[in-house]
Amino acid sequence: MPAVILVTNDDGVHAAGLSALAAALNDLGDVYVVAPDREQSAVGHALTLHRPLRVTQVGERRFAVNGTPSDCVNLAVLGLLPERPVLVASGINHGSNLGDDVTYSGTVSAAMEGTLLGVPSMAVSRGEAGEGNFDSAGAVARLVASRVLVEGLPAKTLLNVNVPAGPAGGIRMTRLGHRVYREKIVQETDPRGLPYYWIGAGPPEWNEDEGSDISAVNRGWASVTPLHLDLTHYGALGRMADWESGLNSLLRKRAR
Ligand code: MN
Repeated sequence: MPAVILVTNDDGVHAAGLSALAAALNDLGDVYVVAPDREQSAVGHALTLHRPLRVTQVGERRFAVNGTPSDCVNLAVLGLLPERPVLVASGINHGSNLGDDVTYSGTVSAAMEGTLLGVPSMAVSRGEAGEGNFDSAGAVARLVASRVLVEGLPAKTLLNVNVPAGPAGGIRMTRLGHRVYREKIVQETDPRGLPYYWIGAGPPEWNEDEGSDISAVNRGWASVTPLHLDLTHYGALGRMADWESGLNSLLRKRAR
């Protein structure tokens, strides 16, 4: 019996990119789709804990969940699938997920959830191109997934794959790039005279660092970035060791 592969996304169960990813991975295993019943972009790693989740079967091995991408991965891996998956693949997101933006992304968060559950996981996103085709992104996803299935991934590590809108000139292993935070909030006044705000207006600006995911995609390459879920900064932990005695003596003084 072939191994089970879980495909999910954050654009919703009816998104073209989701079907494209499921089709691209179809010959690598038994592909099951468990995805949000509606668009859930930019929900990050949110879990639904305060209302019941419902699962609706919408096709053969295809399920819609009234929750977030992380909910879908949880439900699927911990019970919905007939066996534990060998791979979680999230996407293909309509729009790239690069650099400092990855923690906002529901697409990337679904792969983080898979990683936390101990399943090798990858997120796949494609640059904005309207409803254009996903052939190139699907081909890259399939190649990367095949390699992951053979080699596995290091502990607590997932892959963030971004493919440009046009045909990819090749594939680059990259690190996360960094955003330039120059944006301002937009403040307007509503018809009742109350202020309201928009954040995230205007296109993001990026540093053009060599070797980053952003520079690779800007040059027409597909980008594969290994991400690590241990967010501890071990260097800082070592350098800040003396904070412990300092903070404790202050805490004791306060208690006296
Ligand atoms: Mn999305």
